[in-house]
Amino acid sequence: AKSSGREGYAFYVQELTDYARQRVELASSLRHALDNQELRVYYQPLHDLRDGHMVGMEALVRWQHPQRGLVPPAEFIPMAEENGMIAAIDAWVLEQACRQMVSWNAEGSSLRFVAVNISSRLFSRGELDQKVARVLAETGLPAGQLELEVTESAIMEDPDAALRFLTRLRALGVRLAIDDFGTGYSSLARLKRLPVDKLKIDQSFVRGLPEDTDDAAIARAVIALGHSLGLKVLAEGIEAPRQVEFLRELGCDYGQGYHYGRPLPAQRRTGDHPEGPSP
Ligand code: C2E
Ligand code: CA
Ligand code: CA
Ligand code: CA
Repeated sequence: AKSSGREGYAFYVQELTDYARQRVELASSLRHALDNQELRVYYQPLHDLRDGHMVGMEALVRWQHPQRGLVPPAEFIPMAEENGMIAAIDAWVLEQACRQMVSWNAEGSSLRFVAVNISSRLFSRGELDQKVARVLAETGLPAGQLELEVTESAIMEDPDAALRFLTRLRALGVRLAIDDFGTGYSSLARLKRLPVDKLKIDQSFVRGLPEDTDDAAIARAVIALGHSLGLKVLAEGIEAPRQVEFLRELGCDYGQGYHYGRPLPAQRRTGDHPEGPSP
């Protein structure tokens, strides 16, 4: 038993070093992913809960790794935040999403806006608002058609910096949404002062709906809170028609989730090439 424990330990150490080596390799290949055009932007529809109409699209980044295949953002965004690549990645996604929205507009689409995720690591950097202004000017996208999503926990890491950051972005005329709402412990006093338009209820509170009474209580409270502050409320992670019904009855404004559609490349979103190949 002793020796197998030892082997187990050795095995564990080997696994750890493999894991560490893989992470280092992945991190260094991430540095070239942008240059090698391995990043992709997928789009997931956002719907009006009342009439069911599609109102917007959220841009979600993917990494088409030459060996590993499609790597989800949970596996490289934290890495990109650590090694500083996140600024370049978010800026690239922002530009792609704005260009895509301009081309949807040109196709006569009735989409009102495109939503882009912004990492908390960019709060302390002064240049993001200038970057946003430049991308809007270069692409010709009206500022009101761009929504930026910032997580509640990012805001709560440094609420004063977040307030300044969001105020500068808001001055450009873009829309602002608080992502993953309900997981970041905002105080009401803080929330009231933030120049935002929308709360996105985190999917962890939507998953158990309609049966889970805790989730139902949280969803009801967030919707009431958002509306009392004059904000729109979107529920993330809607997978079942019963959840749509339930949230609609609670007065929730918008919804997003596999029930409406999974994230897909833009070519497969427009309807022009429903069976078209991936890029
Ligand atoms: P998020 O912003 O909360 O995005 C929603 C996530 O939920 C997406 O995962 C989406 O694919 C997934 N989702 C949507 N509907 C459903 C559903 O009905 N059921 C379930 N189980 N999941 C659903 P994804 O694309 O893997 O992205 C994960 C996170 O990575 C995002 O969470 C966001 O925080 C981050 N992320 C993605 N793209 C970017 C980006 O361009 N920049 C930054 N900074 N972060 C990004
Ligand atoms: Ca988001
Ligand atoms: Ca979210
Ligand atoms: Ca529960």
